[in-house]
Amino acid sequence: MMEGSAGLKHKHLEFTLASVSELSTSSVSSSSYTPVIARFSADGGVAELRFHQGSEFIDGFNVDLGNAQLFKLGPVKSLCVSESSETNKERPYSWGVTIEFRNEEEGRDFHSAFEQWKEEDVVQGTHLPNGAISASKSKFDNKIEPASAKMYFHYYGQLLHQQNMLQDYVRTGTYYAAVIENRADFTGHVVVDVGAGSGILSLFAAQAGAKHVYAVEASEMAEYARKLIAGNPTLGQRITVIKGKVEEVELPEKADILISEPMGTLLVNERMLESYIIARDRFLVPNGKMFPSIGRIHMAPFSDEYLFVEIANKALFWQQQNYYGVDLTPLYGSAFQGYFSQPVVDAFDPRLLVSPPMCHVIDFAEIKEEDLYEIDIPLKFTASVGTRVHGLACWFDVLFNGSTVQRWLTTAPGAPTTHWYQIRCVLSQPIYVMAGQEITGRLHMIAHNAQSYTIYLTLSAKMWGPGAEQGGILQTSSCKLDLKEPYYRMSQPQPYTLAQDQQPHQLLQAQDIPIHAEDLEEPELLQQPSENSGAQLQ
Ligand code: SAH
Repeated sequence: MMEGSAGLKHKHLEFTLASVSELSTSSVSSSSYTPVIARFSADGGVAELRFHQGSEFIDGFNVDLGNAQLFKLGPVKSLCVSESSETNKERPYSWGVTIEFRNEEEGRDFHSAFEQWKEEDVVQGTHLPNGAISASKSKFDNKIEPASAKMYFHYYGQLLHQQNMLQDYVRTGTYYAAVIENRADFTGHVVVDVGAGSGILSLFAAQAGAKHVYAVEASEMAEYARKLIAGNPTLGQRITVIKGKVEEVELPEKADILISEPMGTLLVNERMLESYIIARDRFLVPNGKMFPSIGRIHMAPFSDEYLFVEIANKALFWQQQNYYGVDLTPLYGSAFQGYFSQPVVDAFDPRLLVSPPMCHVIDFAEIKEEDLYEIDIPLKFTASVGTRVHGLACWFDVLFNGSTVQRWLTTAPGAPTTHWYQIRCVLSQPIYVMAGQEITGRLHMIAHNAQSYTIYLTLSAKMWGPGAEQGGILQTSSCKLDLKEPYYRMSQPQPYTLAQDQQPHQLLQAQDIPIHAEDLEEPELLQQPSENSGAQLQ
């Protein structure tokens, strides 16, 4: 089935080197008397790189090209790293050799040969027990549609979108404060920046005294990060940018601490938390630190008649029976459903909340990657006011559990607005509640291969008044939404514009909220709606 593609099979290619040395032991095999030869081969269908001196193979220096990567460290110096593999019992960890070439040209030739032989291995693929051959694919490729990934990394490859995040001073300022206030967690330590973007968090980590930072970034932004880091040489000399997905790249050493900003709207959108977890499993030492270490999704029912009417009215267009002589009403129902399937993204007044919020905790240090494929949250609230409930409002926060200072980055309504705003899932059928009444329901989120989630929301209110003791349910309302297709509703004045002139250092004292263990379990009483505030209806 793969004939013709195995063109390099049984062939060899050799390069003479200046030297080769193992990374961890720095034991050098130099060419002073006998030259060191690097030899590519594909004997037995597995592409390999081996080194020998004279007629002797250098023991333990063989590299399986299927899971190896080559990095340029200088014009005549490169680093070859190979991934740990379950099958290789002698080397259950990542491992690397530094290669020195005799001149630049030979280095270049070696690099192109490496890529060619590596590709050969990928084409040949992994031999499966049943004899079939499959091309090797990463965890990322296995679950994400290529078209989605392409658009995603194209987006993050543009400076304007990185600037947008950098200009969210609540976000970037909180990261800065969390890193700088917790120098002890960074000083002298190896850091991996998961999805480094412009490299800003790597530079913060270097400012806090990191021994070395590996900035892993999959998009074209990696090139800009290199430029930015090179332009800040005192910090940059301790940062290495590695272009690739955290699911695929190899690093020469383990990290003591991971730093990342993997949060999307509703915390989980973009499915980058899964990459953060994979990076934890691949790169972090046991009990290493994670910045941030936990995330919480907060939820509360809300009442917003204006929003409800605005969405319902969008579909009115399809009520026309004579649109250039065409009856549009056959599509009215679909259009109505379509508008209600978009989560609304904006900053709302916390007084619209109908009850104190509850929260769902995601522990980044403990959770398994697969646990994020389906998130099922049972809901239970007690209405503080009698009103019409139009849906569920959601926001999130993350914790930097530093050894010196614990700091939350919050996106709550009423707190300084961030570029995440808040999210509201609007029900096409509102439900009526009385003050003190219980609201139950379920928020069920299922990940899809376009890096987002399908959301199933159900809210129910128990019967009120005579007969309520029998426990009958009076009203239930459900909706299905696609987190990938939000409705950005930014027409109202943004509270955030006031805070935009603030410099990060001014924020240092702003959100210093030490946490106690019980904060993680108890639902947070953020801002209670007062008895006769905005939630009542005429
Ligand atoms: N750390 C930067 C950028 C955060 S945005 C900052 O805080 O400003 C998230 C970045 O992660 C994007 O640049 C995106 O391209 C990158 N990214 C997302 N998934 C990734 C993956 N699986 N591997 C490597 N980079 C990834």
